[in-house]
Amino acid sequence: MKKLSRRQFLYCSAGLLGTPISAGAFWPFATDSVASGPTDIRGRVFKGDAPKKLWKWSREGFSYKKLNNNKVVCSICPNRCLLTPGDRSVCRSKVNMNGTLYSLAYGNPCSVNVDPIEKKPLFHFKPRSKTFSIATAGCNFRCLNCQNWEISQAKPEEVRNYELFPDDVVEATQQIGAPSIAYTYSEPITFFEYMFETARLANENGIHNLLISNGYINRKPLLELCQFLDAANINIKSLSDTIYRKLNGGRLKPVLDTFQTLHEQGIHFEMTNLVVPGYTDDENMIKEICQWIISNLGPNYPLHFLRFFPKYKLDRLPSTPLSTLIKFRKIAMSEGIRYAYVGNVSYPEGNNTYCHKCKKLLVERTGYFIPTYNMVGNQCKYCQTIIPGQWT
Ligand code: SF4
Repeated sequence: MKKLSRRQFLYCSAGLLGTPISAGAFWPFATDSVASGPTDIRGRVFKGDAPKKLWKWSREGFSYKKLNNNKVVCSICPNRCLLTPGDRSVCRSKVNMNGTLYSLAYGNPCSVNVDPIEKKPLFHFKPRSKTFSIATAGCNFRCLNCQNWEISQAKPEEVRNYELFPDDVVEATQQIGAPSIAYTYSEPITFFEYMFETARLANENGIHNLLISNGYINRKPLLELCQFLDAANINIKSLSDTIYRKLNGGRLKPVLDTFQTLHEQGIHFEMTNLVVPGYTDDENMIKEICQWIISNLGPNYPLHFLRFFPKYKLDRLPSTPLSTLIKFRKIAMSEGIRYAYVGNVSYPEGNNTYCHKCKKLLVERTGYFIPTYNMVGNQCKYCQTIIPGQWT
């Protein structure tokens, strides 16, 4: 474990100086109802894999239920890990220690960066701003194509960690002058306790909270988080439960429920679809995704089609052809999605934002830079149409 002093962190990220401070408070909330055990397809819980003792980056789980014989069930995500004493969760970051559920991922991020918000990608929320980005090890999915598998498919003890408790994260964000914190890279749902406490403190201090996630979370903890959430980017990996099980080790329905909950709660979100050749590059399925979005969420949420690069267990597949991404963007727009983008590749028409009414160029993007900006507040400069999102 590498302890990251404020001085070291700020030196690395922004050249500022500071000092670390102590851990945030613990605040559990009510548990969700208990269903069956884990539903993860390839990975089960890790029997007898808990460490011998807790460390200072452990916190009792915020949402779980105690059962007979010291068993516990985590209620954060649809995996609902059922753990006997000494077991480790599917996401690798939670353990049952003598009948109590603990997170091992609290204040020990393995990735800490200051990113352009466009990198998340969030194109319609505070453009040109920086976001303080953190992740711990662990994920509740098993995507064969994971781009961050070195940290997502690792235990918190197996990676190099820094030490930044929630109040440290907020203070560092303030010193750098970033308006937001992004919970990102691996899967923030698996470090829910750390994210929740950080988000609560950030919210109290006028800092925005961004969730970048697979959306595989139960409704109750999501609603708790929504109190402090300002924007999200959620993956829609396909519209097929079979593909979700095969490619990602999860299920479709809970992800669709997450979109509907965020929509109900009035939180701005954007969606990403990683186009994996042979798995999710079916034109008809893209049409179905767009039709589901239009029917259930409306036309205003931006949809990003991302280029796949060979990685992890799918390292022998080709990258997504640009022509496929262009075609899918066209399909999305013809189905009524007002803002469809292509990402992980340079294609100006698909990287820029055009007013859905007058069609004029609003935001030109070159990588993460924005050379042209034709918004006035939340409106198109030319026809004064209000553009979805939060622009100022
Ligand atoms: S958050 Fe982790 S421990 Fe909790 S149910 Fe999901 S995979 Fe299991």
